Amino acid sequence: MFSSKEEFKEVFVKNLESETGKTKDQATEQDAYRALSHLVRERLLQKWKETEQAYQTSGKKQVYYFSMEFLMGRLLGNNLLNMGVLNVVEEGLMDLGLTLPILEEKEADAGLGNGGLGRLAACFLDSLASLRLAGHGVGLRYRNGMFTQRFVNGQQVELPDHWLQDGYMWEVRRDEAAVEVQFGGEIESYEDKDGDLHFTYKNSQSIRAVPYDLPVVGYEEKSVNTLRLWSAEPAEEDLLNKAQIEQAHGNFIGHQRDLEEITSFLYPDDSHEEGKKLRLKQEYFLVSAGLQSIIAQFEELDLPWTDFSERVALHINDTHPALIVPELMRIFMDVKGLGWEEAWSITQSSVSYTNHTTLSEALETWPVDVIRTLVPRIFMIIEEINERFCQSLWEQDPGDFDRIAQLAIIADGTVKMAHLSIVGSHSVNGVARLHTDILKKREMKAFYEAFPERFNNKTNGITHRRWLLHANPSLSELITNTVGEGWKRQPNRMKELLAYREDGTFLDELHQIKQQNKVNLAQWIEKDHGIAVNPDSIFDVHIKRLHGYKRQLLNALHIMHLYNELKANPSKEMTPRTFIFGAKAAPGYYFAKKVIKLINTIAEVVNHDPDTKDTIKVVFMEDYSVSLAEKIIPATNVSEQISTASKEASGTGNMKLMMNGALTLGTMDGANVEIHEAVGNDAIYTFGLSSEEVLSYYQTGIYDAMEMYNHDKRIRRVVDQLYHYSPFSKGDTTFHELYHALITHNDEYFLLKDFNSYVAAQEEISHDYLNQRKWNEMSLLNIAHSGAFSSDYTIQNYADDIWKISEAKMLNG
Ligand SMILES: *Cc1c(COP(=O)(O)O)cnc(C)c1O
Repeated sequence: MFSSKEEFKEVFVKNLESETGKTKDQATEQDAYRALSHLVRERLLQKWKETEQAYQTSGKKQVYYFSMEFLMGRLLGNNLLNMGVLNVVEEGLMDLGLTLPILEEKEADAGLGNGGLGRLAACFLDSLASLRLAGHGVGLRYRNGMFTQRFVNGQQVELPDHWLQDGYMWEVRRDEAAVEVQFGGEIESYEDKDGDLHFTYKNSQSIRAVPYDLPVVGYEEKSVNTLRLWSAEPAEEDLLNKAQIEQAHGNFIGHQRDLEEITSFLYPDDSHEEGKKLRLKQEYFLVSAGLQSIIAQFEELDLPWTDFSERVALHINDTHPALIVPELMRIFMDVKGLGWEEAWSITQSSVSYTNHTTLSEALETWPVDVIRTLVPRIFMIIEEINERFCQSLWEQDPGDFDRIAQLAIIADGTVKMAHLSIVGSHSVNGVARLHTDILKKREMKAFYEAFPERFNNKTNGITHRRWLLHANPSLSELITNTVGEGWKRQPNRMKELLAYREDGTFLDELHQIKQQNKVNLAQWIEKDHGIAVNPDSIFDVHIKRLHGYKRQLLNALHIMHLYNELKANPSKEMTPRTFIFGAKAAPGYYFAKKVIKLINTIAEVVNHDPDTKDTIKVVFMEDYSVSLAEKIIPATNVSEQISTASKEASGTGNMKLMMNGALTLGTMDGANVEIHEAVGNDAIYTFGLSSEEVLSYYQTGIYDAMEMYNHDKRIRRVVDQLYHYSPFSKGDTTFHELYHALITHNDEYFLLKDFNSYVAAQEEISHDYLNQRKWNEMSLLNIAHSGAFSSDYTIQNYADDIWKISEAKMLNG
């Protein structure tokens, strides 16, 4: 279809005119976006069908990645890239007076996730399809994704994200695959004539789950996998019994709205569990709908149930879909008539689980009563799983009550979803080497000792297609021109760039590309935020969710410190810097919102003070999202990865930035440890406490923030500026909470402890940046070693070690 530019232009214009009834010159950019997406979609549908058939007939195992979040971002550009027609289309549009990146902006950014966890799921889908692995996503079609962030007086305001408003080009509704999910009611049991126990539901509420499928195109269009997003609607029987419902619920519309509420919005909390009943409803809805459709597909194969785990792998992304375990048991036993032992063995060999955090506030637990009322049969099964599990522990080690109490799934009136996930799976993995070590040695030590063979590490990754090929075409072109095309399929081959680390011409080209990307970002910042930034300054970037442990406040304190130094001595030599932030705070996270207000206040002050404005600029970009990340990352010099050691399980932003030639300024935390190992000590800036030191402070409780404050003038100065009259506080009490977090509550995240080593590392950066030759060489080292962090390798490891799936041959080669 798009084999040549001319051909594309012809088809495109024809399509545009017939769809809109306008001439090419009358059509708007929105029209052009839709016409182009339509063309792409049509071509995909054919490939999609072929892929599905090939998977069904190949007899290969398929993996289903269950996740409450998929942070997909925009799809048009990525689909064109993976279909191999990006250049043809871009040039063709140019002839027609259209610019592809502008059309891409017309697409809604699918923000069905909070941050790293959801973006990981999206990168994994891209890698699965690109490796021709039969792997699909299972998620929820929230009608409101992650909120849109605006700043009013420097404070965050949340606006609803109606991303489906103009219709979404990439989804296909599949009415024929709808299923029903049951909530509430009572369970009645009876024995049949053979003495087998059966369970029936009384007064339960039935909700219709309708799937919307999104095609996931692999690189070079090798296969088109599926992301299936479920939407809640009133059940058919409800529609037929409208009159009765009017009577029972007062009004039908209200009742309908209650049902649809299940998929109405994404919970906007990252690394924090809300514990709301609606959230549990969402989780069970995802699990039950997803499993019913997978089982229906398996049944079409006409195989015995004992083959299930040879054809199906079920992965749970964090504990949110942990109800897969009891729901699968329910379907096998209550619907398909299997016995407990057989159902349990199939369940365990099908399910695997990824742990994403050791933060206690993120651990998911549910009060027994909540689960019992919402999904009574599921609760019975969890109880039985727990009984049998505790029994087996007793048999292993009779009399060790402590161990049983520690490992039990149900304890103190709550259900521990992590325990349920571990007990019900054959594999448990952490997301970076350090994180997995902490799981084994500390957080899940007792489980690790009980089932050492279940535990393994899979360091996170990112798709180099979106984050390099698409986000940074000029750098990609330079790489290809230098080492050939091979790295696109084998990203590790970016290492061939190492041969050019002393090549002045190459390093200059690298520099030019970074400069141009910085100029582009500077223009964007000027247009969007009205702030003029200097493209020759260091672009120092801190983009990720706003969270105490991610320590945006430490970055802010450092900027306050620089301001103080410049004010004390306006002629002080300082390498110019632009500090760029992007971060959303959970709407109820008071501390995080104060940090946003502080950074915006600092920006107000330093951007306008004649003593500082030419040396430091601060920009907090609104509404951090996948598309904004794609703009910022190629223009970054310094990547801030400054979490309190032991707290960031992996991080993936660190990998995206490294791949685009930024130098990491980081603690030895999460995957920073592996980045450090890959690039070597001379191409990264590390600082701060080690994870061992942090964990031991937590254990001994001997850290004293007040001591840091009392004994260090620089620290005292910035901390006082939060509390007392200062250019930032203006005598207001706005930042008192931040002061209290640091002093009254003893600085839970060790900002003051790490302050001096952070400042020292920043000074080293300012010094090193002046030696452009050295800086460019370090940048090259980062790019060259970044291929190892492609999610293609991560996914290959999941496929080999956990899912046991291999490449599917397409019918047409
Ligand atoms: C990659 C990404 C994240 C994760 O960033 P971390 O720095 O690893 O926390 C969050 N949000 C978006 C939009 C991303 O693209």
